[in-house]
Amino acid sequence: MVDNSELRKAGLKVTLPRVKILQMLESAQQRHMSAEEVYKALMEAGEDVGLATVYRVLTQFEAAGLVARHNFDGGHAVFELADGEHHDHMVDVDSGEVIEFTDHEIERRQKEIVTEHGYELVDHNLVLYVRKPK
Ligand SMILES: [Zn+2]
Repeated sequence: MVDNSELRKAGLKVTLPRVKILQMLESAQQRHMSAEEVYKALMEAGEDVGLATVYRVLTQFEAAGLVARHNFDGGHAVFELADGEHHDHMVDVDSGEVIEFTDHEIERRQKEIVTEHGYELVDHNLVLYVRKPK
């Protein structure tokens, strides 16, 4: 469960909406959630947090480095807890499902390519748009 020190560590005051939203992100089965999905899940759990508040808090969490925002094509921005290792994403263009993956060969090649161009890799974001074969 959420311990409020996570909020304090991120430099955020502990408020009820922040605690509720952080708890929701930590306990949800779905790792990547849009603001609307967080809002709906809170409503279903009987929590009274407005959509505008959800947006505001998620933006604050992003600024504080607690969550990462992804703007995948053709959908809403989704948020995930910024707690894990680096990973890339696949987005199912039919269902909107987000699948995480890491591939050491891809990671290695990206660094090589960057070096070949005389640069140093700072960050990257790889998104594959996928579909189940019919
Ligand atoms: Zn992810």
